[in-house]
Amino acid sequence: MTIDTFLTLMSEYPRTARMPALFVGHGSPMNGIEDNTFSRGWKTLGATLPLPRAILAISAHWLTQGSAVHAVASPRTIHDFWGFPEGLYQMTYPAPGAPALASATQILVAKTGKDIHVDREWGIDHGTWIVLARMYPKADIPVFQLSLDVSMSHHDHYALGKTLRALREYGVLIMGSGNIVHNLGRIDFSAHEHALPWAEEFDNEAKTRMLLRDHNALVHYEQLGDAARLSIPTPDHYWPLLYILGVADDNEHVSFPIEGLDLGSISMRSVLIGEPRGA
Ligand code: ZN
Repeated sequence: MTIDTFLTLMSEYPRTARMPALFVGHGSPMNGIEDNTFSRGWKTLGATLPLPRAILAISAHWLTQGSAVHAVASPRTIHDFWGFPEGLYQMTYPAPGAPALASATQILVAKTGKDIHVDREWGIDHGTWIVLARMYPKADIPVFQLSLDVSMSHHDHYALGKTLRALREYGVLIMGSGNIVHNLGRIDFSAHEHALPWAEEFDNEAKTRMLLRDHNALVHYEQLGDAARLSIPTPDHYWPLLYILGVADDNEHVSFPIEGLDLGSISMRSVLIGEPRGA
C-alpha cells in the first residue's frame, strides 16, 4: 500500500483547515457522571474547538499485542471499569464509527512498515467516551480508536504519532486520552485539592518540557528522576500523550486548557496542540 492509496481513500474528504490535536487527562470514570471542573472543561473544549469530521481516539484503555485500528459502522460502548455506580453502566455513547477513515489510518501506519490489523471487536472504551460524552453529547461525530501496542518502545509510540499527522489536514481530531501522572497505588480519595509533591513536580516538569518542545526528554521520561518514575509506574496512561506530541508540527502553539491534580496522584492536565480555533 502506498501514500497514493491513502490519498485516493481520502479524496472523498475535502481538506480542511488543520485540526488541533488534543490530549485529555481522563482520570476516574466518575468524571463521566460528575459535574466538576474537569467535566465542565471538556464541555467547553467541545464548544470551542473547530467541529471535527471524525475523532481518532487513542485511549490508555485499549492495550494490544500488535497495533489495531477499530473499524465498524456502529461501535459499542465499553464499560471497562468495576465497582462504580449503576448510573455509569447505564450510559452509552452511540456515535457512529468511521470504517473508511480507519482504513486510511491503516494505510498511513502500514506505509512505515509496521503491521496493523483492522479490528471489529473493540468499540469505544471509557477513556474515550467519558470525555466525548461531555465534549460532543449528541454523539453525532464518527469515532474510531487506535490501540496501544504494548510491544512498542516509548519512542515507537511517539514516531507512530508523527505518521498520523496527515489526518489533521482532513478534519480528524486526534485525541489521546490518559493521564500524565497516574499512580493508582498512591491515590488518596480525600485529596481532591492536595497533590502529592512528586506528582505536582512531574506534572509541572512535563508542562515546562512541552512548552520548550523538549519531546526527547518526555519520550525518555525514565531519565527525568524519581518524580517521573513515581508519576508513571506503568506507561499505559502516558503513551497517549506521546502520540499528541508526535502529531505536533515544530513551533505549533501548545496550551493547557485544563490543569490540576485529582486524588493526590492523578494529573488531569489537557494539552492542546495548534490554534484553538483551527489553522
Ligand atoms: Zn484510565
